Amino acid sequence: MKPFRYARARDPQEAVQMVAVDAAASFVAGGTTVLDLMKDDVERPSLLVDINGVAGRAIVRAGDEIAIAALARMSDVADDPEIAKHAPMVANALLQSASPQLRNMASIGGNLMQRTRCSYFRDIVAPCNKRRRGDGCSAIGGENRRHAIFGGSESCICVHASDLAVALAAADATIHTNGPGGTRAIQVSDFYLLPRDTPNVETALHHAELISSVTLSLDPALANSTYVKVRDRAQYEFALVSVAAGMEIVGGTIRAARIALGGVAPIPWRVPEAEAALVGRPATAASYREAAEIALAGARGCGGNDFKVALAANAVVRALEQIGSAA
Ligand SMILES: Cc1cc2nc3c(=O)[nH]c(=O)nc-3n(C[C@H](O)[C@H](O)[C@H](O)COP(=O)(O)OP(=O)(O)OC[C@H]3O[C@@H](n4cnc5c(N)ncnc54)[C@H](O)[C@@H]3O)c2cc1C
Ligand code: SF4
Repeated sequence: MKPFRYARARDPQEAVQMVAVDAAASFVAGGTTVLDLMKDDVERPSLLVDINGVAGRAIVRAGDEIAIAALARMSDVADDPEIAKHAPMVANALLQSASPQLRNMASIGGNLMQRTRCSYFRDIVAPCNKRRRGDGCSAIGGENRRHAIFGGSESCICVHASDLAVALAAADATIHTNGPGGTRAIQVSDFYLLPRDTPNVETALHHAELISSVTLSLDPALANSTYVKVRDRAQYEFALVSVAAGMEIVGGTIRAARIALGGVAPIPWRVPEAEAALVGRPATAASYREAAEIALAGARGCGGNDFKVALAANAVVRALEQIGSAA
C-alpha cells in the first residue's frame, strides 16, 4: 500500500471541498472496498477523506417515498421494517450481500460505488483497460466464467458487483448528490455507464461529488417484489446471476412489472421489453417463461460464461413465480 493522508470532514461541504482540491483524493465511508483496493495497489489515493461524521444514517418514510441516507449501513437498511414491507427486493438484495460483519460496516453510498470483482482488474500484473486504458482486456479470450453476457465492449466485459444497485435499478430509485457544482438528482438508470471504449469511467459522478441519499417511490409492484441471487456457494459470494423483480397483480392479471438482472452486465441490467410483455397477461408460469426468454433475447456469452444465458432465464422465472405466488 502506498502512503496516504487521512482527514475527517465535519460536514458535506467540507468533505466536497477537501476532495475537490486534490485530483487523487477519495472519500472513505466503511472502508471495506477502498482499503482492499489500496492494499492490492489498484487504487492509490493521496488523501482519504472520512465522511462518517458529515451526516446521519437515517432511513425516513414521508408519504409514498423513502429516503435512505448514503451513510446508512447495509444492515440498517436490510433490517428496516418500512424497507422490508414496501421494497422487499431491496432488503433481500442486501441480506444476500457480503457477510453480517461487512454489512454492519459498509455504507449504502460505498456499496453503489464499489468496483468490479473481475480478478484481472485486481491483479496489477494483468493487462486491464479499466485500470489503464489501452492495456487490453485479459478476460476477452481469458478466464471469463463470471463475465458479461450483455453490455460488454471490445474494451471490457466485466460485470457490476453490487446487488443493491440491481434492486435500485428495478425500483427506479434516484441518487441524490452534493458536489462542487451543487446538488443533483440522478436516476439509477443514468448513474452507471457502459464501458464502450472508456471502461475506466464507471458512473455519472464527478470528482468530489458526494452521494448524500437514495430515494425510492413506493408502488404496489415494489411492495410485491423479491431478489433472487444465484452463486457458487450459498453465503458470502457475489452473484453469478441475480434478478430483482416486482409485480402488481390484480385478479390474476399482471398490472405492472419491474425486472432488472445482476451479474450479467457492467451495469445493473433493466429489461423493459420483458416487463412490457408481462403487463395485461395472466400471472401464470407460461407468462413468466415468455418474459424470461424476452429478457435474455439479446444475451451473448464469450465462452466461459455461456451457461449464464439459461441460468439467468431460469432465475427470472423463479423470481416471478415467487412473487406471483405471494400475491
Ligand atoms: C469479502 C467481500 C464480499 C462482498 N460481497 C458482496 C456481495 O455479495 N454483494 C455486494 O453488493 N457487495 C459485496 N461486497 C462489497 C461491499 O458491499 C462493499 O465493500 C461495501 O458496500 C462498500 O461500502 P463502504 O462504505 O465500505 O465503502 P468504502 O470502501 O468506504 O468506499 C468505496 C468507494 O465508494 C466511495 N464512496 C463511499 N461513500 C461515498 C459517498 N457517499 N459518495 C461518493 N462516493 C462514496 C469511496 O470513495 C470509495 O471509492 C463484498 C465486499 C467484500 C470485502
Ligand atoms: S473485463 Fe474489464 S475489468 Fe476485467 S480485465 Fe477486462 S477490462 Fe479489466
